[in-house]
Amino acid sequence: MEKKRIVPAKLPIDVYKAFERIVGKEWISQDRLILETYSKLSIEGRTYLQKHMKDPSSLPACVILPGSTEEIQKIMRVANEYKVPYVPFTNGQMLCTPTTPEPTLCIHLSRMNRVLSIDEENMTATLEAYADYGQLLADASKVGLWNGGTPLSTTLCKLSSQAAFAGIWQTSKKYGLLGRNIISLTVVLSTGEIVKTGSGTIEGVKDFWEYGPGPDLFGIFRGSLGTSGIITEVTVKLHTWVGGKDMPEPEAGRPCIRTYMEPKYDSAPPPERHKLFWMEFPDYDSEINAFREIAHSGVGIGLNATGVYNTYYCSQTQEMTLERVKNKFFPAWNLYVISAGITSEKQIAYEEEVLRDIAAQYGGTFLSKNYKSDVLEALAPWNLDFVRHVTGYRMNHHNYGGGVFYGGKPEIAKHHSRVWKNALSLFGETYVTDRGGVDNTVFMYAVDPAARFNLTETDIYPDAMDPEKLKKCMPIMLYGMAKNIAAKNPPIGFGISLEPFTSFFPEQGPDAYLLYRKFRKIFDPGGISSPGRQVYSEEEYDRIKELMGPQLESMKKLVRMNPVAAKILMKVGGIVGKIKKSFTKESQPN
Ligand SMILES: Cc1cc2nc3c(=O)[nH]c(=O)nc-3n(C[C@H](O)[C@H](O)[C@H](O)COP(=O)(O)OP(=O)(O)OC[C@H]3O[C@@H](n4cnc5c(N)ncnc54)[C@H](O)[C@@H]3O)c2cc1C
Repeated sequence: MEKKRIVPAKLPIDVYKAFERIVGKEWISQDRLILETYSKLSIEGRTYLQKHMKDPSSLPACVILPGSTEEIQKIMRVANEYKVPYVPFTNGQMLCTPTTPEPTLCIHLSRMNRVLSIDEENMTATLEAYADYGQLLADASKVGLWNGGTPLSTTLCKLSSQAAFAGIWQTSKKYGLLGRNIISLTVVLSTGEIVKTGSGTIEGVKDFWEYGPGPDLFGIFRGSLGTSGIITEVTVKLHTWVGGKDMPEPEAGRPCIRTYMEPKYDSAPPPERHKLFWMEFPDYDSEINAFREIAHSGVGIGLNATGVYNTYYCSQTQEMTLERVKNKFFPAWNLYVISAGITSEKQIAYEEEVLRDIAAQYGGTFLSKNYKSDVLEALAPWNLDFVRHVTGYRMNHHNYGGGVFYGGKPEIAKHHSRVWKNALSLFGETYVTDRGGVDNTVFMYAVDPAARFNLTETDIYPDAMDPEKLKKCMPIMLYGMAKNIAAKNPPIGFGISLEPFTSFFPEQGPDAYLLYRKFRKIFDPGGISSPGRQVYSEEEYDRIKELMGPQLESMKKLVRMNPVAAKILMKVGGIVGKIKKSFTKESQPN
């Protein structure tokens, strides 16, 4: 390994001092030890590769911890004046290291961690940027309410970062994506201006409805990954919760550090008036057909297919994961339904009857005490994970190098499997665990009550200590996403647009990057807000083209897409053609 000193970029001292005056000495640091902890993101393999390559650009120049919206406003004003780029950071799972080699400010929101209010009458809750799903559930369930779901990235995720990113839940079938549950956001723009969305923007009116006067600005912030500003407060819808005030405990009680890997501590029953039904099917088609039929029937609050993913979430160690992959312990073609007795206690029994009818129609078998009871037992972590997810990080027993997401009708799962299989045969897998979705179902979540739209996922699990394995991740992901765009599949549904896809794949939209660039100029005129994460400016595009252009062009060639340059020429050609036509028309005598 090359011997090279990694030197982080530094802010000029007067700029650092200006930030320090806002929050006080205690809440700002440029100590190298602290900066390092903000430079390796838990599921972004690229940040580990940067370490192997001795690349300092994942290190922020300085980390600041504001305590309020007003402090963020002041920070933004200074950042804007001195043109200091910044990135918002909550848990630091992904996409929150600096985007350029410029000295960058990392704004960690961890001091803003309160659930501010629960409004029982209007069924809403207002939270600060660092309040998480777990806190919200604990408070809301006391009054028989909850927000409707929790992501697999664990219940410690913040609703603010999820609003700026994905926000998909295991119970999105009934409640939809987080984006459909947001009533209002408070956002500080890079100029220091504050934008509020929803009914609360009308003077004297409360936050109870997601629309205010004029266009719906939430769309600008949804999936924006911090490029349009920092979300400091979120008001979300709440729904009826019938699961009781306390989460059930496993019969074995609580583990200690030495025993926490023992499965018995992971086997709590589901909350009151909730039940999970697990089914397996003989093949992909029957799984997909049953999936659609169940969604159409209207039963269940959650409907998902997990296939080999169960080997990660439900295996307490990496050895167990590998053993179960090898032995094909979990069914290849499966789905599970989360049923809740909301209208009455009898609702669950009724839903079970509907599910049994549908399963019989498609050759499905329920896992039960009499059929694969060991598998059903091993699936016990899901009993609570659908409402307060904790086992997501088991995907990281090794590490996580990225994933590929396709959205669409349930059949999108089969198409996704074919592409993933090709991707792994072209570029090689990092470990056998990458094969989730190849000979078994991809992870599929119903994110709409009738499964009109579903999200499917496949992932790569390299060892972060092995740079050669980490290097494989990028081409696998690029191929998967490029094939998605080439096939004209629907967008993945969170509202995310992420570079280098936004600019290098102008087929999206088409030319959606032009619109994003315009938005960027309005919401972040100084270009300092996670610059280039959602869309590159023309200058950024030129710089990245030098660095990544050849790799991206060869990927486009591989999936039989036009190169970027050709696409632009065709567009110009089209415009010239139109001008010629209109010129000829006008010059013809009547
Ligand atoms: C095992 C695993 C499973 C996952 N499964 C799911 C899933 O089921 N559903 C799902 O939705 N996601 C999933 N994810 C992705 C994850 O939920 C998102 O990365 C989530 O937003 C991370 O939360 P965080 O608090 O760590 O945010 P961070 O990683 O800190 O930030 C994520 C992004 O949001 C920006 N950001 C953070 N805070 C703010 C703010 N206040 N204002 C504006 N921008 C901000 C950051 O700059 C960054 O771009 C999964 C991740 C893991 C690790």
